[in-house]
Amino acid sequence: MATPQQKVNLLGLDPAGLEAFFHEQGEKAFRARQVLQWIHQHGISDFAGMTNLGKALRARLQEMAEVRPPEVMMRKSSRDGTRKWLLRLDGGSAVEAVYIPEEGRGTLCVSSQVGCALDCSFCSTAQLGLSRNMTAAEIIGQFWIARRELWLETGDDRAITNVVLMGMGEPLLNFNQVLPAMQLMLDDNAYGLSRRRVTLSTAGVVPAMDRLRDACDVSLAVSLHAPNDALRDELVPLNRKFPLAELMAACRRYVKDRSHKTHITFEYVMLDGVNDQPEHARALVGLLRDLPAKVNLIPFNPFPGTRYRRSPDDVIRRFQDTLHHAGIRTITRRTRGDDIDAACGQLVGEVTGRGKRIGGAARHAAGAVSA
Ligand code: SAH
Repeated sequence: MATPQQKVNLLGLDPAGLEAFFHEQGEKAFRARQVLQWIHQHGISDFAGMTNLGKALRARLQEMAEVRPPEVMMRKSSRDGTRKWLLRLDGGSAVEAVYIPEEGRGTLCVSSQVGCALDCSFCSTAQLGLSRNMTAAEIIGQFWIARRELWLETGDDRAITNVVLMGMGEPLLNFNQVLPAMQLMLDDNAYGLSRRRVTLSTAGVVPAMDRLRDACDVSLAVSLHAPNDALRDELVPLNRKFPLAELMAACRRYVKDRSHKTHITFEYVMLDGVNDQPEHARALVGLLRDLPAKVNLIPFNPFPGTRYRRSPDDVIRRFQDTLHHAGIRTITRRTRGDDIDAACGQLVGEVTGRGKRIGGAARHAAGAVSA
């Protein structure tokens, strides 16, 4: 016997996908725009409320489709205004999204995978391994939920001005689900953010960086963390596959011949005595010389079992000075939301699959990349 067909979750369809969906239904393309606006701008998940669709169409959608975000398991607010949502996904895993309000902007940090396959030695998510890719609906669902809740509470439907794909996971290893989610962030019928305000962070999946440039040239952040291959091989094992020369060449291609002014943000986690010495700063200057670069220094956030320590403040300051003197724009990310475990390396994507907690993870969320 045939199993009943699963409903299509319209939340994760980008404009082209939604148009194709309505086309299959024998409906005109403008239906896609209407439904995009209902879902993403009005925050409506019930087809009955989509009043400019005919009754018959609404009934049909009710039957075959759904608008289903992840389920909110927990909310936390920090003294400094940072907020965190723990979201339950199908299958029992959970991921976290973090909202970081700052003067004149609000940044949402979203996850793209449950766990991560990359095994970076300073990152708590690495201990999880990869559980699974998130779907486009789950990725954009983090935005949908955060925007709606902030809106209901503060009356401001534009509290989220920036999005960073810097939560759990390597977004470029989940390209096909991340792409539609980003298209929705950018689309005027959905969230309408400018490319400058959507930042994808990668540990350096070189072929996918080229793919990203062609498909959706959002702002790029690269998790560098070391200025030479020997050290980077150790901190970011992906470097053995795509060493620095290849990574930097991909960065150059990413910013080449762009119609608008752009730069790449390089993230550099400050590990005491490991990558924070004057010679590392000088080597970094050499590496970034011919690139439009900004550097974000991230004070390491320790987690149980780690062998690393955070660099002392004066060491971070000296490192930053060296970059400044070479003319490289550099900021040190402030730790935000640490009282609710929402800072870099403190996010815990809890997992209760098969009654077992395999989670305990991730990452970062502090300060956010600039736009
Ligand atoms: N896989 C992608 C996206 C994740 S963002 C990437 O590597 O870019 C990951 C960021 O979180 C890294 O740039 C790193 O700076 C930060 N991070 C991870 N663990 C951290 C820790 N323990 N302390 C501070 N920052 C951490």
